[in-house]
Amino acid sequence: MDFSIPEETKERLARVREFVEHELYPIEKIDQGTSFRDLLPILNDKRAAVRALGFWQPQVPQEHGGMGLRFLDHALLSEELGKSPYGHYAFGAQAPDAGNIEILIEYATEEQRERWLQPLLTGETRSCFSMTEPDRPGSNPVWMDTTAVREGDDYIINGHKWFTTSADGAAYAIVMAVTNPAAQPHKRASQIIVPTDTPGFKLVRNISCMGHAGDEWMSHAEIIYENVRVPVDNRLGEEGAGFAIAQSRLGAGRIHHCMRWIGVAERALDLMCRRAVGREIAPGEMLASRHTVQNSIAESRAAIDAARLMVLNAAWKIDHVGAKEARIEISTIKFFTARTMLDTVDRAIQIHGALGISDDTVLQSFYRHERSARIYDGPDEVHKRVVARQILKDYGYTRL
Ligand SMILES: Cc1cc2nc3c(=O)[nH]c(=O)nc-3n(C[C@H](O)[C@H](O)[C@H](O)COP(=O)(O)OP(=O)(O)OC[C@H]3O[C@@H](n4cnc5c(N)ncnc54)[C@H](O)[C@@H]3O)c2cc1C
Repeated sequence: MDFSIPEETKERLARVREFVEHELYPIEKIDQGTSFRDLLPILNDKRAAVRALGFWQPQVPQEHGGMGLRFLDHALLSEELGKSPYGHYAFGAQAPDAGNIEILIEYATEEQRERWLQPLLTGETRSCFSMTEPDRPGSNPVWMDTTAVREGDDYIINGHKWFTTSADGAAYAIVMAVTNPAAQPHKRASQIIVPTDTPGFKLVRNISCMGHAGDEWMSHAEIIYENVRVPVDNRLGEEGAGFAIAQSRLGAGRIHHCMRWIGVAERALDLMCRRAVGREIAPGEMLASRHTVQNSIAESRAAIDAARLMVLNAAWKIDHVGAKEARIEISTIKFFTARTMLDTVDRAIQIHGALGISDDTVLQSFYRHERSARIYDGPDEVHKRVVARQILKDYGYTRL
């Protein structure tokens, strides 16, 4: 098996790494107590610099203005971007737009592409994805209350959503709503584009999470859809195809998340090591001399390397046999990588002592923002069940 990375990829990764370290790490120093809105002028400058380097939207095919990187190449690049909380945003590869761009490229009509995809490709607008509801379990997404009822050439949408990431300031939401209540559970819902200035679209609040409500791209909104009227032409794909569309991009989406989390873990390990060699714990004795600290470093190194190999293997399998065949690998990396990242961030904070709790390093931001990795895109338990079910099937146990 050949684990070598092609020279061209290595060079690209080195250039991206340099950009992230020199241009994006310094933003962390000024973001303390600053809203995302206030950071936008700086981030827009960084985006312009990324474009000038030819690194804009690495995941988007060249014919749509992106770099058109192969899946594995983009996965590796995603790790570099993940080292900064602003990496994906600066490169135009941020969730949820990246996923919405994929969906629109695949399922939108020419007219829809022109109107909704084009502004995302240029970065002139943002979008969001509105599926989870406060009164229904997101882990069982086929059970939802939001409806889109047809009236002539329009849908009338009513529902209550929350944790719609980046809705604040977005131009439109792609809303998952029940259009075919009598159909099989997986064929009941459709994805419908709703401009956020449509009457009846009510952004109730940016939900305060871990003490911060956030704003703009860095926020999660509660939204009421009250008699929201949009043309039937705003539907993506066939009526009732909402879950099939969502499913089609889950594999790629999880690889991108996982590689970003590996970037977070690498950054935390780097900070851990810098602190270990820079902090005197007694006169002339560095923190790095303590075995427990060495253990933390070694455990983190091993777990991150294991996670990366697992993610790249899953990406390779998706490339070669498709996401359906790779579903066990995809579920395995989802919970394993999330845990690896969170364990590493926690160890890094511990080794920093009080400094790790303070806002003086990026660790607190990782700790607050990334805890949710074990919940969104399927909670740990759901993915472990998928894996265990497959293994136990080989032992004749099929009641899971
Ligand atoms: C930061 C963040 C961003 C998000 N962004 C978006 C977004 O942009 N758009 C969107 O639509 N949604 C978004 N979500 C919502 C996310 O998809 C849901 O939170 C997730 O699907 C879980 O649903 P729930 O919160 O309703 O938890 P529930 O479904 O109520 O589950 C609660 C807990 O029960 C346990 N559990 C659930 N199922 C099982 C099972 N089968 N076996 C054992 N235990 C189980 C798990 O521990 C789980 O965490 C986001 C969430 C977060 C935290």
